[in-house]
Amino acid sequence: MTATTRNVVIIGSGPAGLTAATYAARANLEPLVIEGVTAGGPTGGQLTLTTEVENYPGFPEGIMGQDLITGMREQAERFGTTYVTDDVTEIDLSSRPFRITSTSGDDVHANTLILATGAKPRRLDVPGEDRLWGQGVSACATCDGFFFRDKEVVVVGGGDSAMEEATFLTKFASKVTVIHRREELRASAIMQERAFKNDKVEFIWNATVAEVLGDDTGGVTGVVLADMVTGDTTEFDTDGLFLAIGHIPNTDLVADVLETDDDGYLVVEQPTTQTAVPGVFAAGDVSDHVYRQAVTAAGMGCKAAIDAERFLAANDA
Ligand code: NAP
Repeated sequence: MTATTRNVVIIGSGPAGLTAATYAARANLEPLVIEGVTAGGPTGGQLTLTTEVENYPGFPEGIMGQDLITGMREQAERFGTTYVTDDVTEIDLSSRPFRITSTSGDDVHANTLILATGAKPRRLDVPGEDRLWGQGVSACATCDGFFFRDKEVVVVGGGDSAMEEATFLTKFASKVTVIHRREELRASAIMQERAFKNDKVEFIWNATVAEVLGDDTGGVTGVVLADMVTGDTTEFDTDGLFLAIGHIPNTDLVADVLETDDDGYLVVEQPTTQTAVPGVFAAGDVSDHVYRQAVTAAGMGCKAAIDAERFLAANDA
């Protein structure tokens, strides 16, 4: 099959990808957004897994994450963005146009490429975690909290996500215990305060989960906690384990070609979104381990589209 060549191909459909699409579409570049089916995370990105977004400018009463993404998607479509739902399996950046291969077999060629593939939840890598994933172990309170009505759960992590998940889970669970590996939280003051003020939230400090206990039929029954100071281990009964220990950027397809930093995030030439390969740009959580907000991802998407437009103009593509 002959592949079509597009001026701008955007991989990823979170706030970065969709904002890039709106800007590229308004520049008459007729962008194509490839949104993954299984790769890295949900279609529409991590925002679709949150409940209310309270800090996106312009929504004084807050907006549901899914509604925000739906709005961004429709906005980009209105100006001529097209979407395909497909998992990209290979990206060839050795020459222009770049070649993108997907599961469906429909190859696409791209004069410029914007990588907005986001990040996926980090895992603990301890015994029992994989076996009980989806059977009481989760990285998404919004998705799975409902199953823990009147049950006791633990949340691992000390950042904003952990506080958000813990507070959200108290809508269902009878008790939520946050397990943090230090005795000081990383979370912002307002998120800490919310969790501290909630009677259903308790904390265990200086501890990590060393093993998840349970069986495939009954789900999680407990965790083995390791004390970070003494090294002692104890069993702690719980019905569920929620992980909120950060994210890993989705760079599998390009990590051997593009430069990444020590944490695996794509390196861009600040203040632009240009990666190590001319014509390839990166935006959002895949290249940002500092801010990781919906609004900063959207801002980077805007920059990437403008960078792509200027690149095309300069290269007569
Ligand atoms: P994060 O800020 O990187 O925090 C990750 C937490 O997990 C840290 O407390 C870290 O411990 C802990 N951790 C990491 N690896 C671990 C391991 N292997 N075992 C045990 N604990 C581990 O990630 P995040 O909370 O997902 O937040 C990411 C970004 O999104 C931040 O910029 C945050 O502000 C933002 N965010 C904002 C909101 C909001 O404003 N509503 C909500 C969610 C997230 P240490 O502290 O010891 O490193």
